[in-house]
Amino acid sequence: MHHSITILTGAGISAESGISTFRDPGGIWTQYDIEDVATPEAFARNPALVHDFYNTRRDQVRSARPNAAHEALARLQKSYSAPVHIITQNVDDLHEKGGAVDVIHMHGSYQTALCAACGSRWPAPPAMRHDDPCPSCAAPATRPDVVWFGEMPYHMDQIDEILSTTSLFVSIGTSGAVYPAAGFHRLARAAGAATLELNLEPSEITAMFDEARHGPATQLVPAWVATLLAE
Ligand code: NAD
Repeated sequence: MHHSITILTGAGISAESGISTFRDPGGIWTQYDIEDVATPEAFARNPALVHDFYNTRRDQVRSARPNAAHEALARLQKSYSAPVHIITQNVDDLHEKGGAVDVIHMHGSYQTALCAACGSRWPAPPAMRHDDPCPSCAAPATRPDVVWFGEMPYHMDQIDEILSTTSLFVSIGTSGAVYPAAGFHRLARAAGAATLELNLEPSEITAMFDEARHGPATQLVPAWVATLLAE
């Protein structure tokens, strides 16, 4: 019997909701250059291009529906006998749409805008522009509230605390290519947790997990949750 469970999700859990991943064939980085849209330097160089990219993605996500994997995690959170923490690298809101609560968005969210001048946040308009004035300080310094390459992920203190006390760490739909998230299994294991990977195919770090199961998230995750809740 496990005590608290910590789940890390990546783009793979939203793939079957029609949101493309980053690194798979046909994924976003085969169509765009990271250097052009997802770094602070890119934003300084061409904010309109960066906003176009995120406005398009936000629009795609607005009509997306949560899938059986998101819903199963919400069920687990509601019915498990110990805390279930969900940390996501995703900037979509499909965990919340599927019923999950207190989701930790370590790479930010499409749902909010961030003022690059004063740091305040507000609900993202359908189309965001760099010179939209900040509702708080009026600076024309609006940026997507997403963590770009080269920036520090959000909520790292809280995440460190969770990883150091969890009994089971489960990685779902992530390639294990982006740090620090790709090192979370190591921190959890060092603190004594068992580790499990659920991914379409072996990730770059599969061999580091105690157990790995491979297949589509909409099949693996509900099956895993059903077993846990039956224990
Ligand atoms: P990634 O694209 O690097 O890896 C996706 C992983 O999911 C791969 O290992 C792939 O094998 C697996 N996968 C694909 N389809 C799957 C399915 N149906 N079921 C189970 N697994 C499946 O994504 P990542 O590891 O999350 O990369 C990290 C970066 O991607 C983060 O910065 C994140 O913010 C960003 N991202 C987010 C979204 C989103 O919000 N939905 C989408 C794309 C990328």
